Amino acid sequence: MLIHSDIDAYLENIIKNNHITLIHITGDQYGPDVVSPKKKVIIMNLNYHTSFSYHFRMAHELAHLLSDAPKVTYNHSQLSRGSAERQANLYGIKLLADYYFSEDQSQRARWDRRFQFIETFGLGRLTHLVETVLNAT
Ligand SMILES: [Zn+2]
Repeated sequence: MLIHSDIDAYLENIIKNNHITLIHITGDQYGPDVVSPKKKVIIMNLNYHTSFSYHFRMAHELAHLLSDAPKVTYNHSQLSRGSAERQANLYGIKLLADYYFSEDQSQRARWDRRFQFIETFGLGRLTHLVETVLNAT
């Protein structure tokens, strides 16, 4: 089953291969994670209070750097509904799904395990996006 150190290693490998700098801070609970595509830096606030898991937040920030997102600094203090945010959510979910579900698993088997996946990464609010990703792969 999914072990946290394994998903850590998976994401850290993506970070390393793409020459991204990861910084951890211990800000207050309202301080969001921040990503700068120009500098290729992700700043994770370990105290940020959110229902999303740490690993999904990281995958979301990575998605801003790995996709063709516009080169601006994203600040996640509000729940943004912009299309860049939606794309980052979708791509972040895909990154985690690629890890979580083994390659030989059928689409049906993945679908049947989607709620375990959603619970593991705190994605309840994004259930519809998880289903979009699982239907597309
Ligand atoms: Zn974002």
